[in-house]
Formats: sequence, C-alpha cells, structure tokens
Amino acid sequence: MGAGVLRLISGVGAKGPACFLLEAAGKRIMLDLGEGPPPGLLPDVADLGTIDALVLSHGHKDHVGGLRLLQRLGTPPVYATDIVARSLPQGFELRPLPLGGLGEVLGIGVATGRNGHAPGGVWLHFAIGGGVLYTGDWSVESGLYDYDPPAQSASVALLDCSYGAYQKSLGECWNALAPLVGRGPLLLPVPADGRGPEIALEVLRHGCTDIFFDEAMSKAVRQMGGTARASARVDIDEDLQALSAAAKPISAPRGVMFAASADGTSGASKNLLERWEHESEPAIVFTGYRAPDTPADRLIKSGRAHFLRWNVHPRLSDVAALVKTVKPRAVIPAFCDRSQLPDLTRALAPAPVTMDPVVEL
Ligand SMILES: [Zn+2]
Repeated sequence: MGAGVLRLISGVGAKGPACFLLEAAGKRIMLDLGEGPPPGLLPDVADLGTIDALVLSHGHKDHVGGLRLLQRLGTPPVYATDIVARSLPQGFELRPLPLGGLGEVLGIGVATGRNGHAPGGVWLHFAIGGGVLYTGDWSVESGLYDYDPPAQSASVALLDCSYGAYQKSLGECWNALAPLVGRGPLLLPVPADGRGPEIALEVLRHGCTDIFFDEAMSKAVRQMGGTARASARVDIDEDLQALSAAAKPISAPRGVMFAASADGTSGASKNLLERWEHESEPAIVFTGYRAPDTPADRLIKSGRAHFLRWNVHPRLSDVAALVKTVKPRAVIPAFCDRSQLPDLTRALAPAPVTMDPVVEL
C-alpha cells in the first residue's frame, strides 16, 4: 500500500481547466478547480462525491474559475494565500496558505514558495509519503513576479508543462516584440494579473514611455506595488512607480496599449477589438494561449493580429532542471497535450513520466 493516490481529474493529456484530487491520510484534497480553456469548460466532478478541502495554487481562471462547483463537492474549506483570497468571490470558508514557508492543510504539512507567475501564486509541496509537489503554473523568467525554486525532494511531481518541449527564452520573446513596439500604435490584449504588467515593465525598461492602460491594468500595477507587493521581485518599486506615472488611459490608437482580457472575450480588450478589427491601426499582438472560438483566434486566423508568445510558463530546460533537483519517481506533465509525452519522456529521463489518470503516492 502506498501513501495514497493522486487522481488527475482535468488538466493532463490536453489543455483544460486544472483539477486534481489527492487522497491520503484519510483526506480528499482537491488541487485547483478551474474553468477553461476553452471558455466555459469545467472539470467533470459529477461522480467525485464530497471532498475535504480545496487548495488553490493561484487566482487565474483556469485554476479557480470552477468554484461554483464546490456545493456539489460538499462545500469544503478553501485554502489560498491572502493575495489570492482577496480576489475570490465571497461565500467560501477561507483558510490561509503561506506565500512561502510551512503551513498545513487539514493537518497535513505543506511547504510553499512563490511561483514567479501571478500575484499570490505558489507551488505546493505536501508531506505525504516521499513528498508530493504540485507547481500550479510557474516561471523562472519573470521580471516582475518572484520565484522561489522548490528544493525538497518529492516522490511524485505534478508539473506545469504548458509549453511542452518549447525552449525559447524571454529575451527572444522580447526581440520578436520589440520591432512592433517601435513601429506605431500597438494593442496588446493581456491578463492584468499575469503577463500584462510584466510586458509593460519591459517596454518601459527599453525606454518607451508612450504607454496606455485600461482600468484593469492600472489597478493591477498599483496592487503589485501595494497589497500584492510580496509577490514581486525585491528591486521593483521604482520601476512600478515609473510605470504608473507613465501610463495614460486608452482613447485613440496611440503608443503601446495594454488592455484585459487576454483573448478579447471580455473586458476593455473586447470593446477595443470590436472597434479596431476592421481598421488598419493599431497593430494587434496576442501573447498567450489561443483558445478556439475566441476573438484572439479569429483575428489571428484572419491575419489582422499577430501571435508572439510571452513566456509565463517554464521552458523544457526549466522543467528538466526542477526534475533533477526534486528527483521524483513519477513526473506528471500538466497543461499540455498528450502528443508531448514522448519528447518530455526523453528530456526528463531517467525520471518516469506518466499521464495515467491515477498515480500511486
Ligand atoms: Zn496561471
């Protein structure tokens, strides 16, 4: 008998909402409960019965957007860091997770560290069996969000591998984007609580102050210098202040404009894309995952918009380095397609890589 099992409800084998279930020490602990991609897609929890707790890695929709399913799961308490908890809807029994250090979930020890990906976001290492590491989404490259590398070994590692075998650096991403930043009016539909402020900081650091924000971006940048400061890199205050001072509201096509949401399905970017889809200006660049049947998908297909990835997940070499440190006897790559399995298996050897729906702990 092992220490328990990890059930991969959703998010492994195909891009989809995050939802996993740890069963150990007589407890059933859900890790994340997302919605999409694509928008509207929820994990199938119909036959799961009740769970004892939900633990949230960070506040992005594909990790927390399924909270309305909690009633069907026995309305358990929700564990989240303070920064993530503040962004959640009311009506849940919230319990604390540290942003870094040691805590507990239903009496089970958990170590956390910042994930370099989102305000309040953490990876989680549970003291179950030889250790269970769940990274949620993570990145080692962010110029805004700080990252604390997991150092403890874990026998099972459930790792964000959103980019599969992709290997380009953030520097290369900037080199691709830079010519468009200098050329004329540019609209970047972005998540305000993710890569939006990161890209804006990079634009500013390269000397461009002709920057325009929607309300969501203005608020997010203020929060990074205020209530979410603990998730940001140490030396960031001056840059954040300069960015807030430079950014003006979006009106006409001008400078570099940042607006949420990332795929244009909601928020200011939805309206701006409707307004400018059939105009020659501004240039439009999408930088994140492109779900089918979204304005992002439509405008890229028609040639009106470009796609240039901005890294917010690990490259293959980042995943390989983490696996070397953690030395798991099972690696579960999450948030990528099953077709990536052979490449990941080769790159992460000798660690066994699996996408089986139930993994022994
Ligand atoms: Zn995320």
